[in-house]
Amino acid sequence: MWIPQMNSNNLSKNNFVLEEESIINWSQVQLSFQKNFGLEIYNSWLSKLSLINEYHDYLVLEVPTKFFRDWIVSRYLDKILEEIKKNKQSINRIEFKVAEDLRNTEHLHQPFKANVRDIESSSINYNRLNPKLNFDNFIEGESNKIALNSAKRICENLNQYNPLYIYGGVGLGKTHLLNAIGLELKDRSNVMFISAERFMYHFIKSIKKNDMLNFKDLIRKSAVFIIDDIQFLRGKEGLQEEFFHTFNSLIEKNSQIIVSADRSPNQLEKVQERIKSRLSGGLVVDISPPDLELKKKILINRIANYQNEFKESVTISDDILNYLANEVTTNIRELIGVLNRILTFSRVHKKDLSINECKQIIKDVYNQTKVLTIDKIQTVVAKYYDLTLNDMLSQRRSRPLARPRQIAMYLSKQLTTRSLPEIGRRFANRDHTTVIHAVKTINKFYEQNDEIKNDVNKIKTLLLEH
Ligand code: ADP
Ligand code: MG
Repeated sequence: MWIPQMNSNNLSKNNFVLEEESIINWSQVQLSFQKNFGLEIYNSWLSKLSLINEYHDYLVLEVPTKFFRDWIVSRYLDKILEEIKKNKQSINRIEFKVAEDLRNTEHLHQPFKANVRDIESSSINYNRLNPKLNFDNFIEGESNKIALNSAKRICENLNQYNPLYIYGGVGLGKTHLLNAIGLELKDRSNVMFISAERFMYHFIKSIKKNDMLNFKDLIRKSAVFIIDDIQFLRGKEGLQEEFFHTFNSLIEKNSQIIVSADRSPNQLEKVQERIKSRLSGGLVVDISPPDLELKKKILINRIANYQNEFKESVTISDDILNYLANEVTTNIRELIGVLNRILTFSRVHKKDLSINECKQIIKDVYNQTKVLTIDKIQTVVAKYYDLTLNDMLSQRRSRPLARPRQIAMYLSKQLTTRSLPEIGRRFANRDHTTVIHAVKTINKFYEQNDEIKNDVNKIKTLLLEH
């Protein structure tokens, strides 16, 4: 029997990975709304939000009316998300359900109930196929044509190429395509759809619970195994080992494997050669950034969907479409985000927007979604403590260096989406366990030591102001 190479003692001592999966504390979130939005806004709007459902990366909230939803989305969405993320970092999206609609359509209650059960048994709920990400609404363009056709061909005829490996940059449609394959096949085959991060989470959890055999069994039962964002496996030795075994046994029994990543197999860092060559052994296709034509098609399609959904006509002029498609260069997720914002504004203000107003909205969107990088955090922390970056990152352990270093690691975990090993690497190649230790230490100090708490809060303000 294969034994995990990861040090399971170490793992069972930390509860970090499990923490990520914690159930959100909604009353805590409400309290932070109250504090950070002010009582007036809180009482009129935010106190009326209720939590219906919770998933790994998004929440479903109930709002009383459509108008209420539009108002909140156009004014407070980013800040709401920000507050929620403080409570549960993995959340990156919010879906609103309108209470009137919920009452009117009885059938909506059924999925709702089913989903509640999902949460209760979330440890066995690996499959999170999103019904909205299907082939019908995936728009074809020059940049994704080959990937789309390969994905469709796999569905018609399994095992033509194994694995199918789709790669490309952020927000270009990889998850959408993988999800579409899952939807297409799920009624015919036993499909498992999982992100590499969740694979890792369940893997570690099953080591802790001494449940490895069940975990492997579950995966090996799948006839179609779809794994998203495989680049997350890099460097995680035990996981790679397990993945490789799973991979081989799935291929041996003729299961179809579909993989996505942000880069090609041979560009994966810290992934064993034999895994890379296995990954390249089927068909490797890429999705490149969209051209203007595709961006416009996607916008037009989204607007049509929006009109259908709201039974309202919206006119967005050609000029504006061109403007948006030119302005948002590569990331389709961002493009759709900006469009949604514009649609909501024009709904709330009941008018078509001018180019200038759109410019303002785009500016707001970019300002609010400011991305913090580890570099930035390191620089700001070092400056705050009057250290050079070299000293702060050095291997020396004296407290005046170690504490700021730990604070920088802690903030990197809290304020970026980087994984623990990635953070470790960026701190002069430290191990992920060092990062875990730093996070725990600062967490503890934050509770018990006012000076550190003040420092952390001041640094955070500095980071968010710049
Ligand atoms: P990735 O996984 O590559 O980061 P996603 O699959 O999450 O990207 O896509 C980001 C967003 O863009 C999603 O909302 C997705 O539905 C949308 N999208 C991407 N490509 C297309 C396309 N060709 N047609 C329609 N929507 C798309
Ligand atoms: Mg994705």
